[in-house]
Amino acid sequence: MKESEKYPVSLTNSLTGKKELFKSINPGFVGMYVCGPTVYNDVHLGNVRTFLTFDIVARYLRFLGYKVRYVRNITDVGHLENDADEGEDKIAKKARLEQLEPMEVVKHYTEGFHEVMRQFNILPPSIEPSATGHIVEQIQITQNLIAKGLAYESNGSVYFNVRKYNQDHHYGILSGRNIEELMESGRELDNQDEKREKIDFALWKKASPYHIMRWPSPWGDGFPGWHIECTVMSTKYLGETFDIHGGGMDLKFPHHECEIAQGTGATGKSPVNYWLHSNMLTVNGQKMSKSLGNSFLPRELFAGTHALLDRGYGPMAVRFFMLQSHYSSTLDFSNDALQAAEKGFKKLINALGLIKKMEHAGGSVSEIDGASKDLSRLAHECFLNMSDDFNTAKTLAVLFEMSARINDMKSGNLPIEKLDSEAFTTFRKTYIGFMENVLGLEEEKEQNDEVLKGTINLLIELRKKARTDKNFVLSDKIRDDLKKLGIQIKDGKDSEMTYSFE
Ligand code: AMP
Ligand code: ZN
Repeated sequence: MKESEKYPVSLTNSLTGKKELFKSINPGFVGMYVCGPTVYNDVHLGNVRTFLTFDIVARYLRFLGYKVRYVRNITDVGHLENDADEGEDKIAKKARLEQLEPMEVVKHYTEGFHEVMRQFNILPPSIEPSATGHIVEQIQITQNLIAKGLAYESNGSVYFNVRKYNQDHHYGILSGRNIEELMESGRELDNQDEKREKIDFALWKKASPYHIMRWPSPWGDGFPGWHIECTVMSTKYLGETFDIHGGGMDLKFPHHECEIAQGTGATGKSPVNYWLHSNMLTVNGQKMSKSLGNSFLPRELFAGTHALLDRGYGPMAVRFFMLQSHYSSTLDFSNDALQAAEKGFKKLINALGLIKKMEHAGGSVSEIDGASKDLSRLAHECFLNMSDDFNTAKTLAVLFEMSARINDMKSGNLPIEKLDSEAFTTFRKTYIGFMENVLGLEEEKEQNDEVLKGTINLLIELRKKARTDKNFVLSDKIRDDLKKLGIQIKDGKDSEMTYSFE
């Protein structure tokens, strides 16, 4: 029996607000789309939390044996300063202020984003499409919506007709709103005269003469609206209806609501079976956000240079800190919580090092005793907790229990040879698998740096010994081979040696 059948996954579907049993459209295959960053500034720690949530979802589904196609886009055009189609394009504005070509802005921040994802061990998606790479498809779907009477052109821009759509469907189904309320609460907008109704949203925007990012279209030069890119890129790579769509809670409205309307309007089918939203990282109860001035960047976190931090923390301790809460709860940042997380993380990682070296001599015991049953129970609970709406918090609690058993094995309180070999093997495999593959926890790089330093010093000692023994062939080889690796050995006075990285 496959793990995915043995441990069926349930998840909280934002569309229904209920916990539902997950059933993929195609057996053994999961199509998942997550809204990626708008690449006009550095990602902050709040953004990291959301991408980590979906890294865990993809990792666990794969661990269960599903083939996952994970699509996470790069928004490189169309996201205006204000969610209601107002203001300048975020990337175009940055390019104007910095006197750069918009694509220079995009390249710079995309690379920065990838670097941060690597630091936190967040795996790359299967496909990472960009909005500017899909202009043709965005124009096509806009034409399709106009042909269906669900969109209209106005002064070179095209808007989605929410009221028309709402005659046959429910605009507001995801965020629990209705259009009458939305009409009441809508503000007067700059481009109100272009829209038939306040709640209509842009599929295509006319470019003003000085707007840099522009493409020809049937409606004149312009650029796509923000929501349409995700409809195009998700359905292009995953099909008209796909399994999971994710993003931060703040994207539910209007972004995801509009995606549902566009997808349903264009194909007559609901585009997504399960909507997953991760909750916000907060600081003193307030959403971490650049505009509120309470955000900090990963590099400030590592160096401990931000005023909110009392010292620096490694990316793995932070990853662990975030996994200690369920993705659907808010998570408040605090120095104390980070310190505690660092300690907890070290405990688990030490146990990982220990169990990796442990082996069972084999052979089964005549009667499986309580200790072996306990190991099997713990392994089983890891799966049950993760299959219960990806509950990383409860899974970590089980891993702590497991680490205590590992320490007992090491100290001899729980002798390995007395354990049933199958129970031990499953326990070992589960602990390693959940730590490394599911939760993506690995040794902090600083620890690896320590290992590197130690190794170079050992080689230096060996080179000194080779010199004393007049084995110059060996001593030169050590120096030359280290140089090839970018490590320069310098010979000082009294046969002292130092090194530096080139
Ligand atoms: P953005 O680049 O602003 O579009 O955001 C990228 C992703 O980060 C989106 O899915 C947002 O929902 C998410 N996000 C933004 N702020 C936070 C926060 N404070 N906590 C968690 N996720 C966030
Ligand atoms: Zn999106």
